[in-house]
Amino acid sequence: MLSLDDAWEHVRSHLPHLDAVPLPLEHAVGLVLAEAVTAVAPVPPFANSAVDGYAVRRVDVDGAPEGGAGLVLEVVAESAAGHVVNVPVGPGQAVRIMTGAPVPEGADAIVMVEDTERVEDGPDRVRVTRSGAAGSHVRPVGDDLRPGDVVAAAGTVLTPAHVGLLSTVGCTAVTVVRRPVVGVVSTGDELVPARAELGPGQIHDSNRPQLLAAVAAAGFVPVDLGHVPDDAAAIESVLFEGAATCDALLTSGGVSMGDHDLVKVVLDEVGDMRWMQVAIKPAKPFAFGLLPGPAGPVPVFGLPGNPVSSLVSFELFARPGIRTMAGHPRPHRRRVAAMAGTTFRRRPDGKTHFVRVTVEGDDEGRLVAEPTSAQGSHQMTGLAAADGLAVLPDGDDVPGGARVVVLLLD
Ligand code: AMP
Ligand code: MG
Repeated sequence: MLSLDDAWEHVRSHLPHLDAVPLPLEHAVGLVLAEAVTAVAPVPPFANSAVDGYAVRRVDVDGAPEGGAGLVLEVVAESAAGHVVNVPVGPGQAVRIMTGAPVPEGADAIVMVEDTERVEDGPDRVRVTRSGAAGSHVRPVGDDLRPGDVVAAAGTVLTPAHVGLLSTVGCTAVTVVRRPVVGVVSTGDELVPARAELGPGQIHDSNRPQLLAAVAAAGFVPVDLGHVPDDAAAIESVLFEGAATCDALLTSGGVSMGDHDLVKVVLDEVGDMRWMQVAIKPAKPFAFGLLPGPAGPVPVFGLPGNPVSSLVSFELFARPGIRTMAGHPRPHRRRVAAMAGTTFRRRPDGKTHFVRVTVEGDDEGRLVAEPTSAQGSHQMTGLAAADGLAVLPDGDDVPGGARVVVLLLD
């Protein structure tokens, strides 16, 4: 058996890298920036008020008796967001100002509207009602970004916050690593589509929809290559069809020890393939191959047929592998420390066990991991109920209360 680390290293070191393309910013969330974006102008572009209130000269307010409380100022203009006021603030004067509006010349502080009252009689005047009311409340020009600052570095995974950030500097298009196109094919004589009635010995093909969903959830473009029987010629032709249009392929089934496990046989004949027995449970059998494609080698992840194994294998190899192709700096799921909520049963067998668990925070904020009901590699209920996979190194039971590492699935 091959250790998980060695198996992953084999995959990682054989992966091609996708090229970069220009994309409208709004289509680039989840993708990785290939070229840095730098600011050409300051953000904010002008000094503006962080509150609704009055733009004042700090000396007038702080220097007045009682630190400004009771001071009455003459209101000479109003500054609203989106409008420039050309009236400067002189001694004893104030400009009424709204959040986001330019701070007028002469003013260096803002008194919040909550700390004022209008003087009703006569010309427009305002009374300061609290001592020390002249606050900073000014967002200086370039407070967030200065010209030349790197707004987002190459290698950044774009989030909605980056879309906002980049929009503030007027960026509408970015150069990102292409979104991977991933083909999914299921193999097995026993499979019929979920919509079909089951005949004797048949089961519904659950892996293909499951893997297509996992591909989409990972932010890749799923391509349904359909289902093929356990027939070498059919497997070969669907693999070549997929390699012609996809960046990576996922196959389900046909990589174990059975007489009809033909995916590994075909991959070995038509491509460059390594068939592995990985020291993990579930998902021990795994094949990784490269097929010739129009733009270079196309990785094929030969996932096992057992439904739990296929998704675990996807999580351990295919998802991080394809994310690596797409330039993700952190291709793997996050691993966190949790407390075993109960005894995790296992015996030494040379394998790392991945136990489907729920993960909840307790009153003190600690994460507690509990196995979900069914742990067989054919039992999807336990995986569907899981928040993560507890990683149990080879060895004996892990007692309740002990620390377990959990790979979070979302
Ligand atoms: P295999 O890896 O082809 O030997 O299949 C192992 C087990 O997974 C067998 O019980 C298969 O019937 C089952 N299986 C294979 N492919 C699928 C699939 N697409 N959907 C559901 N079960 C499958
Ligand atoms: Mg099969």
